[in-house]
Amino acid sequence: MTELTGMFLTELTDWCRERKLPTFRAKQIFKWIHQGVDFDGMTNLPLALREQLNQEAVAQPVRIIHERRSKIDDTVKFLFGLRDGNCVEGVLMHYHHGYTLCISTQVGCRMGCTFCASTLDGCVRSLTAGEMLGEVLCANRYIVDNALPVEEGQSPRVHNLVLMGSGEPLDNYDNVMKFLRLLREPDGVQIGLRNVSLSTCGIVPKMYELAQEDLPVTLSVSLHAPNDDIRRQTMPIAKAYPMDELLKACRNYVDKTGRRVIFEYALVGGVNCEEKHAVELASKLRGLQCHVNLIPLNVVAERDLKGVTEATVRRFMTTLEGLHISVTRRREMGDDIEGACGQLRRKTLAEGNQANN
Ligand code: SAH
Repeated sequence: MTELTGMFLTELTDWCRERKLPTFRAKQIFKWIHQGVDFDGMTNLPLALREQLNQEAVAQPVRIIHERRSKIDDTVKFLFGLRDGNCVEGVLMHYHHGYTLCISTQVGCRMGCTFCASTLDGCVRSLTAGEMLGEVLCANRYIVDNALPVEEGQSPRVHNLVLMGSGEPLDNYDNVMKFLRLLREPDGVQIGLRNVSLSTCGIVPKMYELAQEDLPVTLSVSLHAPNDDIRRQTMPIAKAYPMDELLKACRNYVDKTGRRVIFEYALVGGVNCEEKHAVELASKLRGLQCHVNLIPLNVVAERDLKGVTEATVRRFMTTLEGLHISVTRRREMGDDIEGACGQLRRKTLAEGNQANN
């Protein structure tokens, strides 16, 4: 079965041509796919063609197998099922400027960060470009089908994307690049790359490659420490790339793209959250066009790490601000619908509720 979802219009046109189908059919199919419609719903195609397509290709490689909607803030947590029975998580968040969808790039992860639930069983496989797009298509359909609230003048669809679900995007480099380019297709989902954030634990050589791609996404770097000693305690990748090399790659990204880098910093009790850590962090980031996003640790049951108090978060933030570092704390959303970072998938797998289609 050929997955058509991950094809550019030019590729789909070639695929249709090989089957002696006229060019305009490719465009019709492409539009439908990017609207999240399956072959059966492609009403301007002859029935016989829809049947033929059903037999040899896939239009929608992802489906929602589980969803939970927060009663507090309309956040929706999805479990997306893939065709081979694997599943990944996504989260849809409603902000005043529109909907932001957090998507996964791999089933599991092999980066091994000690605070993260996604990596506990390693990486099963990388997602294809079509599957990543499929997550977006599912969320778009969900917004429309469930008549989720939209602000006046806004269209009912995903406006912003963050690649912060399970997986390391730069460990699935080629597929992620193709996915980002698919977002730019004229008849596609209309998400500007300036509204996309790619989050990495810091695979330095790939960060240099990304800076050359001419894809103006925001680069988020999971830093989580003010120095190598602390970083190595929680992030194995820090053993491969020391922090000064990582920060050099960030500077290069800013120079090449003109976009500031976002540093994610999860505050872990007793590890990286003291005032002296904030001071050290500020000194490392001085002169770098960046923003720090503080995340109070989301405690993972399987891991022996502690969260922090509200007072600790505030003190850390005030110290950074006092040293002229631009900083915000991540808003916690959907608190009532299951912890983030791979926890819903684990819970569902444990309950034996796998994706089977
Ligand atoms: N692999 C990429 C993207 C996925 S993780 C990366 O490392 O950036 C998305 C973000 O969630 C990262 O900043 C990650 O460090 C953070 N994260 C993972 N587990 C967490 C937890 N238990 N509490 C808070 N943040 C967590």
